[in-house]
Amino acid sequence: MRVEIVFIGNGGGRWATITQKKPTGGFRIHTDELKLHIDPGPGAIVRLNQLKISPWKTNAIFVSHCHPDHYTDTEILIEAMTEGMLKKRGYLIGSLTAIEGFGKYEKVVSEYHKNMVKHCCVLYPNDEIELYDTKLKATKTKHGDPFGIGFRLYTKLGDIGYTSDTEKIDSLIDDFDGVRVLIANITRMKNERIRGHLCSNDIIDIINSMNKKPGLLIMNHMGLKMKNPKREAEYISRILDIDVVPARYGLKIELLDGKYIYKI
Ligand SMILES: [Zn+2]
Repeated sequence: MRVEIVFIGNGGGRWATITQKKPTGGFRIHTDELKLHIDPGPGAIVRLNQLKISPWKTNAIFVSHCHPDHYTDTEILIEAMTEGMLKKRGYLIGSLTAIEGFGKYEKVVSEYHKNMVKHCCVLYPNDEIELYDTKLKATKTKHGDPFGIGFRLYTKLGDIGYTSDTEKIDSLIDDFDGVRVLIANITRMKNERIRGHLCSNDIIDIINSMNKKPGLLIMNHMGLKMKNPKREAEYISRILDIDVVPARYGLKIELLDGKYIYKI
């Protein structure tokens, strides 16, 4: 049985994306059957090839919302997933805005590409979907895109939560209570609250309100103003008394029975 999380980037927001000082390729979750790419932003396909991770093996893509640091490489990954647009294959899962568009929020995937995906799924908060040897439940966000979603993925080795871009809302407490690993998009350092995003102190409040804290918190989608992620991780870890790891390009975390293995 295998469950691993691999980071193809750790950055987010306009400045990290434009400068690529923090890569914006999203991350992947691999199980025995699932090869899921989450939020493939700018550079995802380049970084995957650099990391020697096969884009061809992708069999599911999750796009949390319609901001470019989360979606620009989606169509290229669909092309890989469908063996060069020759085979109808895989899942495309995302918010209403990303997949179909809504008013001023234009969809981010062409009909041509959507037609080659076997299962194209728009999810709203609390919707669930069976996904190979896992199950995915969409979670609520509060962000510039009103239809943005995160998820809780139920795997054989525990649950993995992904907040996506959101500011602090009460539902995050229940949605991620008791997950084994929580991947949180923490854009800013402590006390640097910003609308539509989480800072370190927001995630501390959220996790402190849970009945069961996650075993491991991974800081993702950091902006350029997150200058010293390692120090920030130590700060969060000290207060919450849980393991906290800042995502970095190529970071691989393998979930085993009762422990984790980190690899770069
Ligand atoms: Zn966003």
